[in-house]
Amino acid sequence: MLKAGIDDLLREQEGMTTINRETIQAMQLKKLNRLLLAEKERQGFYADAGLPKQLESLEQLQTLPFTTDEDLAAHAGSIVMLSQSRIQRVLSDATSGTTGSAKRVFYSEQDCENTIRLFMAGLGELVFPGSRTMICMPFSGPHGLGELISEAIRRLGAQPLKVGCGLTYLELKKWMEEEQPDTFVGMPVPLISMLRVLGKRSLERALISADACPDSITAACEKILGSRLFPHYGSREMGLGGAITCQAHAGMHLRENNVIAEIIDENGRPVPAGEQGELVITTIGMEAMPLIRYRTGDYTRIIPGTCPCGSNVLRLDKVHRGTRQNVTSAGIQAAGVSMEMLDELLYAHPQLVDCSAAYIDTRSIAVEALITPGADPTQTAESLAQDLEKHFPGTDFVVRCREVKLEDGPMYPGKRSILQRSN
Ligand SMILES: [Zn+2]
Repeated sequence: MLKAGIDDLLREQEGMTTINRETIQAMQLKKLNRLLLAEKERQGFYADAGLPKQLESLEQLQTLPFTTDEDLAAHAGSIVMLSQSRIQRVLSDATSGTTGSAKRVFYSEQDCENTIRLFMAGLGELVFPGSRTMICMPFSGPHGLGELISEAIRRLGAQPLKVGCGLTYLELKKWMEEEQPDTFVGMPVPLISMLRVLGKRSLERALISADACPDSITAACEKILGSRLFPHYGSREMGLGGAITCQAHAGMHLRENNVIAEIIDENGRPVPAGEQGELVITTIGMEAMPLIRYRTGDYTRIIPGTCPCGSNVLRLDKVHRGTRQNVTSAGIQAAGVSMEMLDELLYAHPQLVDCSAAYIDTRSIAVEALITPGADPTQTAESLAQDLEKHFPGTDFVVRCREVKLEDGPMYPGKRSILQRSN
């Protein structure tokens, strides 16, 4: 079996010859101490927070305070280590954070370059010279996610097709017919929706990222494509690229020269090895805006042991997105249901193309679903509602279905969540 591209990345970027847990941790401690010292010298955000200028071991990291979304919203300017002239890109998320001010993340040119290099390692497992890859990710200008993926594909000697997000099935059909892509890069629900409406056509392989991926969607996509999916994990705070899947398909190898990962319980304490908890990241490889112990709000576990591919680079298991925020929303506390849980159940029905959900009140949820042509809307709605109420006792579901049309587009433009009804 091929060794993961992530090992080559560590050799190339960090000059490492032997890659095992000891050498990886030594590299991480060195980079972390370089960061702490730089913060002390410039009297930056973390020096103000009283952080030491050096740690003796990685375990001592657990004694430092967390960085939160509120810190990012309120202090992004003082967390940035570079002058404005060296900032290549700012990503802003006006909808997140409880303070109402936008959370901003800054990148330097080197940060973008490092992300392209990670994408090459990840994409290189399924995109080959001559491949034609449809990129169904946002294209938000230079150095945005879509552009960085495109550049990585170009450097692999393959052809990036800048499809973007939010297209109708008719528009996607045109892309498929005219460009004959063999690989797909995008979010999980848009992929299964497209496959169920249009079929696989020329597609052979897919990389999914940027949102939670329920097992039912993975299984359905893999069955139609006839190949294993390559899930990736990333977030703005870790430079968009965080963890990539190797040929073993046994978890996602973390970009350990960029991120030190910890898994904590709800009280902020480290969980025993291999157990589930919240992912906390220290981004030692980010030049513009390194973060120390940032609580991602994402839930996962670190898979113990060496990967079947032979690599000792840490692997993240499936990531459940943003559960912390969900739990704090009153609706979900009452109902105990998340969009990911709904998707898990609903996409197990092969006629489901797309769906959205909204709270009617704290114990009722309305589901709108698009189903494959030929499926009966009334019968399907009944069967979906029965299935939902069986799995989530105590919550009422009002389900409406209609047949999908080629003129339809995705019901969610980005990440999926249960909507709060405004009316
Ligand atoms: Zn591996």
